[in-house]
Amino acid sequence: MNSIYNYNLEELSTILTERGIKPFVSNQIFGWLYNKIEPDINNWSNISNTNKEIIDSLFDLNLDKVEKVEKDSSGTKKFLIRLQDDLLIESVLIKESDHYTFCISSQVGCALQCAFCATGKMGFFRDLTSGEILSQIILLKKELGDYKRKLNLVFMGMGEPLLNYDNLKKALSIIIADTGINIGQRNITISTSGFLGKIKQLEEDFPKIKISFSLNSSNQENREKLMPISKKEPVKPILNYFKTKKRQFRVTFEYVMIKGVNDSLEDALKLNKLLSGISCKINIIPYNENKSISFKSPEKKKVEKFSDSLFKKGYTVMVRWSKGKEINSACGQLSADNRQV
Ligand code: SF4
Repeated sequence: MNSIYNYNLEELSTILTERGIKPFVSNQIFGWLYNKIEPDINNWSNISNTNKEIIDSLFDLNLDKVEKVEKDSSGTKKFLIRLQDDLLIESVLIKESDHYTFCISSQVGCALQCAFCATGKMGFFRDLTSGEILSQIILLKKELGDYKRKLNLVFMGMGEPLLNYDNLKKALSIIIADTGINIGQRNITISTSGFLGKIKQLEEDFPKIKISFSLNSSNQENREKLMPISKKEPVKPILNYFKTKKRQFRVTFEYVMIKGVNDSLEDALKLNKLLSGISCKINIIPYNENKSISFKSPEKKKVEKFSDSLFKKGYTVMVRWSKGKEINSACGQLSADNRQV
């Protein structure tokens, strides 16, 4: 039986109308699923028992199962989630000073094998369905209870979101809809290792969603070593697109900084040259050490020198000392502990 979370409002309405259920009932169901976050059909007080029976016979109403929650001293929580086919994914709830950020996965594992990333070491298992993407957000929202303040959503968990574009698009359309989860486009960031065609598609479909490009190197050769996908999807055409395309929000460049690999002042100068003419922000993410990878974290002084030199050139630079390191939930560390069955 297919999960009810895999259907958008139109699809749900079409299926139920064929069974004689009026279209407004689909809106009420969406209200329970996404607004009230109430997956238990027994509690859907405005749905008749006859309709409940039909709905129950047609769809799997279960959310994916939270297997384990780990919390670190900063309040960041990592969720290990078991999917219906027993594969495992991870999502992270990051506590900020005045809001929460949900870090969501888009695939089980990842095929792109970036040298610094624990998810890449797992290999690729499969794409997540739109329902499995939504299920993570609902589970994290449930954890927050009636928290009403700002939520940011970042697709920086396991997987390359733009390689699962159809399911991502369907999930996003429910995430941003008033009748769905209702998170504004401007509070959503899609992080990508760079697929120009899909970046263009995303900007056309969701013009206010923010894009974060995982750059990590100031030259093509070094980037190919860190991110093998760069051989097929070279950086220059992507940067040229960012230079010429008018957009509402500045693009963010992520730069995972690794000791002795890309942390020199010379790298910073090259980066300045490479990004010249692009309206952007730069997020420097000091590498989070992981037992399965030999790279080391950069020295704090080097990080400061690097960021200062870019700041002096006029860039907005943020150094993201990742939260969640104690529980391996920081950037590049998600791997479901490699416990896939
Ligand atoms: S950094 Fe992102 S794209 Fe690269 S292997 Fe990890 S999950 Fe995949």
